[in-house]
Amino acid sequence: MAIIITDECINCGACESECPNNAIYEPSENWKLSEGTYLTGVVVLPNGKKLKAEEDQEPVEDDYFYIVSDKCTECKGFFNEPQCAAVCPVDCCVPDENHIESEEELLTKKRFLYNED
Ligand code: SF4
Repeated sequence: MAIIITDECINCGACESECPNNAIYEPSENWKLSEGTYLTGVVVLPNGKKLKAEEDQEPVEDDYFYIVSDKCTECKGFFNEPQCAAVCPVDCCVPDENHIESEEELLTKKRFLYNED
């Protein structure tokens, strides 16, 4: 499953630079699918969602850092554990029960983000 940042976040920003997929954004910041990935143009995600990779998307959270679940692979394919959770000083990067994915689904997402299929 993807990782989510809870409202216990203290906005230290330690996690943001650790994410291999550029899935972590500052509060109120727009996000793009193309940032930190190889995606361009109109893409259909493995979950069926259709997006323009370079188009600004609305922030998921206004008050604290947030993770874009469509870009989070739980660090599969890069590291053995979620890097955001490993560096978070208040342990607020936790599994997102609303985005439950198998290891294979996470690896498929990783290959999709980098055009590896
Ligand atoms: Fe990024 Fe990994 Fe955290 Fe997901 S688990 S947001 S891929 S650092």
